[in-house]
Amino acid sequence: LISRNLATMPPIFDKPTIEKYDLVLIGGGSGGSGCSRRAASYGKKVAVVEMSGILGGTCVNVGCVPKKIMWHAADLQEKFDNHAKGYHLKGEGSVPRFDWATFKPQRDAYIRRLNGIYASNFEKEGVEHHHGYGRLTSAKSVEVTRPDGQKYTLNTDNICIATGGHPTIPSDEEIPGASLGIDSDGFFALENQPKRVAVVGAGYIAVELAGVFNGLGSETHIIIRGETVLRTFDPALQQTLTPWMEHTGVNVHKSSKVVRVTGEKGKTLTVTTDKGESIEVDALVWAIGRKALTADMGLEEIGVKLDSKGDIIVDEFQNTNVPGITAIGDVQGKALLTPVAIAAGRRLSNRLFGPPEFKNDKLSYDNIPTVVFSHPTIGTVGLTEPQAREKYGDSVKIYKTSFRSLYFSMIEEEHKEPSMFKLICVGPEERVVGIHIIGAGSDEMMQGFAVAVKMNARKQDLDDTVAIHPTSAEELVTLR
Ligand code: FAD
Ligand code: NDP
Repeated sequence: LISRNLATMPPIFDKPTIEKYDLVLIGGGSGGSGCSRRAASYGKKVAVVEMSGILGGTCVNVGCVPKKIMWHAADLQEKFDNHAKGYHLKGEGSVPRFDWATFKPQRDAYIRRLNGIYASNFEKEGVEHHHGYGRLTSAKSVEVTRPDGQKYTLNTDNICIATGGHPTIPSDEEIPGASLGIDSDGFFALENQPKRVAVVGAGYIAVELAGVFNGLGSETHIIIRGETVLRTFDPALQQTLTPWMEHTGVNVHKSSKVVRVTGEKGKTLTVTTDKGESIEVDALVWAIGRKALTADMGLEEIGVKLDSKGDIIVDEFQNTNVPGITAIGDVQGKALLTPVAIAAGRRLSNRLFGPPEFKNDKLSYDNIPTVVFSHPTIGTVGLTEPQAREKYGDSVKIYKTSFRSLYFSMIEEEHKEPSMFKLICVGPEERVVGIHIIGAGSDEMMQGFAVAVKMNARKQDLDDTVAIHPTSAEELVTLR
């Protein structure tokens, strides 16, 4: 054991404790945790190799969890700034302001607590946490390089790769000065709130981080290549969110590419676009996608096939082309979401080690619901309208409504957030193949409606469900 501080810290292993493990995972994030703990629950001997020394991976440390906390902070600030007055909250003095510098340590402390909970769950369930860099030396052995440079080998018949991915930043050759910017990991490391910030990208992370900055009062620029954000989402969502972001003060630089960045990191930067704009900011955040962590892991030597993007190719059971080697989560490039990594991992362990009824267990990647923590939030499941029209042609029927939720009835016109709910139905039965919603509460609403889509609900099934009044959700069961 390398460390066992004060007898309360769960152990971290620095050598094998058995000749052959039932399962060795590389990566102790969402997928690695879900898969290893399920395997251990079947009495299997499991080792997880994690290079960072802390568990939880992207989601816990630099993803979903600290992001959602920052979303709550921004949401609360917006309520103080824009909504409280409408409800006659009239206290003395000025509106409370978010203090980034004092909040960050509190947020970090919460994350450290979660790391501890992950570690003690491993200990309770008998999963060994090995701190080091994992590399395959054969289809049945993983070499662990410890932080002190010492190496040892874990032998097994089952290796699962759950190494996730990392944010991408253009090289300085592609865009001079690009490295003066930070990525989403850098966002979570910021000790102070930048007064002015530019975010590049139009996907989940760009939209979410721009929303946080804007809500908390930073002068926010978002630089997008197209005319709208979230171009892979249903057009009605793009067309509702993009103008609303502009309305709330985000400077949306459309059809623009960054061509140069100058200045000093941590001080003032000038971001120049191909449209000739020069934007002065205190921080630049690149949010232009992520890349799987597959380099220098021995995959090529063993013959594990990657696709052109560098994602590991797996079949529907998470098998790679090499028997005994599986891959789960972001590293396999499909649906980069924490619950997907966890569910795929658990089902893989069910299949490998569970009772006979699980011998064909696998995760279905159809109809995965997802939320964008924009302001307001977006919930979506199933096909977008263009996807449905391509697949089903004229048999697609759309139901759509736009409204302001009751909450905003007391709030000044300019701060009334939009809501837009859309159902994509198909065929004479009007089977619901897609639901796309934006508006306050959409994040919490989506889960239940995703169950309905998963169960092949028809429009009539929604209509037969009595509405809950007064809510926004009731709009989805009363659409005409
Ligand atoms: P990870 O969680 O990334 O875990 C991989 C682990 O492997 C890491 O701990 C890494 O250190 C380790 N590792 C890598 N290589 C090696 C090696 N060779 N040896 C040893 N260890 C190694 N998803 C949602 O569902 N909801 C959200 O709201 C959400 N928000 C997000 C916000 C941001 C800013 C980001 C970046 C992501 C967000 N995601 C969200 C996506 C989510 O975080 C990922 O889908 C999820 O973490 C993937 O889990 P994973 O197990 O595949 O990989
Ligand atoms: P995404 O793939 O979602 O979005 C990146 C976007 O950046 C692209 O859609 C593209 O939009 C734009 N882009 C790509 N390359 C460039 C470039 N060279 N210059 C400018 N813009 C570019 O990646 P993210 O990094 O936002 O997030 C990664 C994944 O993490 C997500 O796909 C999601 O699965 C997960 N995630 C989930 C969250 C959630 O569940 N709430 C939150 C955050 C992340 P365009 O083509 O329009 O230019």
